[in-house]
Amino acid sequence: MTLNDTVKVIAFDADDTLWENQPYYDAAEGRFCNILSEYGVPGYIKEELFRTEMQNMAELGYGAAAFTLSMIETALRIGGETVSPAEISEIYSVGRSLLRIPAEPMSGVAGTLKKIRDSGRYRLTVVTKGNILDQERKLECSGLGKFFDHLEIVSDKTEKTYTDLLAFHSIKAPELLMVGNSFKSDIAPVLQIGSYGAYIPFHTTWQHEIVEEYDHPRLLRLTRFEDLCSVLL
Ligand SMILES: [Mg+2]
Repeated sequence: MTLNDTVKVIAFDADDTLWENQPYYDAAEGRFCNILSEYGVPGYIKEELFRTEMQNMAELGYGAAAFTLSMIETALRIGGETVSPAEISEIYSVGRSLLRIPAEPMSGVAGTLKKIRDSGRYRLTVVTKGNILDQERKLECSGLGKFFDHLEIVSDKTEKTYTDLLAFHSIKAPELLMVGNSFKSDIAPVLQIGSYGAYIPFHTTWQHEIVEEYDHPRLLRLTRFEDLCSVLL
């Protein structure tokens, strides 16, 4: 499939598409389990944390702050009266460390974005969930900001998020290509509204983002970020 006569706007997911993110959250979760090891095995603590995150999703949304509050809430629930201020303080530091993720572009990302940008054929935008300050900082640290016309930080990625994006850019559904690593957030909703999705899976995926995948005429499955060049240029 080539998309160069159809697509006008390319929207990119950020975390685990442009730079690594989930491995830092996985490592933080590992440290969290170590801190609470006297209260249960890692499998149990991870399950409890995930349950708290899902319960908090509607009010706290995505990102480091939500994750930190969910860790603390989980520790207080499973540790009860025994959990110490020192343990809570350590958990808080683990959460804070997620605000310093280096956001170094993954292999092939900067070169590919430059080629797509230099072609002059497309408008490029970032569409990401998470905390505004954190996502802005990561984009700044990545050095990739210069390739994009626009950064959109959203509370969730639903069909409405993408129909709003079409309206914002004054384009029709088939003129949008969304690129990302989450089938649930980056791909399924854009296929539903009539746009194109380029799915580039990352080696680790947050449990919440795992859904059943399917084939679709407007779905491109790519193994490397660089493969975008062959469909767009
Ligand atoms: Mg992602």
